[in-house]
Amino acid sequence: MLTCIKCGKQFPSRYYLKTENMCFECFNKLSPDEQQKTMKESLMRHPMTTTTFTFEGYRILKQLGVVRGITVRSRSIFGTIGASFQTIVGGNISLFTELCEKSREEAFEMMVLHAQQIGANALIGVRYDTTEMMSGVTEVLCYGTAVVVEPV
Ligand SMILES: [Zn+2]
Repeated sequence: MLTCIKCGKQFPSRYYLKTENMCFECFNKLSPDEQQKTMKESLMRHPMTTTTFTFEGYRILKQLGVVRGITVRSRSIFGTIGASFQTIVGGNISLFTELCEKSREEAFEMMVLHAQQIGANALIGVRYDTTEMMSGVTEVLCYGTAVVVEPV
């Protein structure tokens, strides 16, 4: 069981919490400034991640297998219209860039959560994969190998 540090309620898994020790309800009550700070602190406590298969200065003690995070997103009709205008103008399609960025962040966070749940403190060989499931609906997959590392 996981306990929220704010309200003390207990939750069966990390899925019920916004950060590793705060529930969604309590997180939503925070001011935007506090929310940002809390997320930043939470991210800093996340396992280390790398796209390579080694960590400089660390040795891998245990491999815990592949973990993944998946998110499925659809474009809003307004976003699509806005982006169509942007394609006429040319350059960076910021509306889609933002959507992709968010989807990848979500998938990445999910992967990190799964790694934490099985006791990993690092992730190696991290990769992204995307599939368009139907028009306007995209699946983003993030996966990597969960490992336990210790400083050499
Ligand atoms: Zn709470």
